[in-house]
Amino acid sequence: MSPGAAADPPVDISVVIPVFNEEENIGELHRRLSAALEETGRRYEVILVDDGSSDRSVERIDRIIGNDPRVRLVEFNKNYGQHAAVFAGLEQSRGAVVVTLDADLQNPPEEIPKLLAKIDEGYDIVGGMRARRRDSALRKVPSWFVNRFVSRATGVRLRDYGCMLRAYRRIVVDQILRCNEISSFIPTLANAFARSVTEIPVAHEERRRGKSKYGLGRLLRLNFDLVTGFSLMPIQLISVLGILIALLGVAFGLFLGVMRLIRGPEWAAEGVFTLFAVLFVFMGVQFLAMGLIGEYIGRIYAEVRNRPRYVIRRISS
Ligand code: UDP
Ligand code: MG
Repeated sequence: MSPGAAADPPVDISVVIPVFNEEENIGELHRRLSAALEETGRRYEVILVDDGSSDRSVERIDRIIGNDPRVRLVEFNKNYGQHAAVFAGLEQSRGAVVVTLDADLQNPPEEIPKLLAKIDEGYDIVGGMRARRRDSALRKVPSWFVNRFVSRATGVRLRDYGCMLRAYRRIVVDQILRCNEISSFIPTLANAFARSVTEIPVAHEERRRGKSKYGLGRLLRLNFDLVTGFSLMPIQLISVLGILIALLGVAFGLFLGVMRLIRGPEWAAEGVFTLFAVLFVFMGVQFLAMGLIGEYIGRIYAEVRNRPRYVIRRISS
């Protein structure tokens, strides 16, 4: 298929899907995905990675595997998070092209042929861009900022980093797999290794069954990961900001001193409250800076420990 691919891979397309408590979605997912892939006429495999589900997802998947040898299961022993799951799926994948997808049908499988068409045009990565995103404002507003920020920090301008409906060429997947970082945000990581990246608009649906696995807390952690994982820009920005604020503080102090000389001590006494305000700004910045430094140190610690990222209990077939 792709001219650069080494010795004919056993399948053309691998579809990797992280699954965490999605029992109500598995059946329809398999039905719609198979129909969409069948239509492409290519050889494919579907790799479902169970991220420690506590519902009957695994049971459902096992039943599907019984009837469809193209579906494979990677089962984690506990919940390690969506990106660890995708990683494990990539590790098992054999296709010349790998497509990632959410299990909850928010990314319609029917869009996959569009991604593949773009890959055939020669792109290394094709990202989906949720044209009309069907999520709550609480999810969309932070995402907007993250997209802007990541585009800047990583130098790859994409409009939608959060969309997991994406297609990668084998060469990119192999590079991703060589990265041993503890927490990696796959779409951004992938961009570092691609020669050409493009985005196409894809449909996005509301989650109809089951609950979103991301509360605000989890989302924040993911975004922190994303920002510190891919650049040192935040810490550098904070340093520059610190210098500017310190200079402002000195200027302000001089100003207060001069005013005291001109207007007398009563005027300056009123400035006490302003000083409080200034103090709080300082403290705020310091805390932020310390938090960021802590974030980096924490990551170094995690990296140094070098623990396995996840433990697989079982791989089917
Ligand atoms: N997911 C996972 N492990 C987790 C959380 C989520 O494998 O710890 C999977 C989940 O089953 C789904 C995908 O990641 O297939 C996206 O999760 P979700 O739909 O909850 O996220 P949202 O659409 O709200 O961003
Ligand atoms: Mg979802």
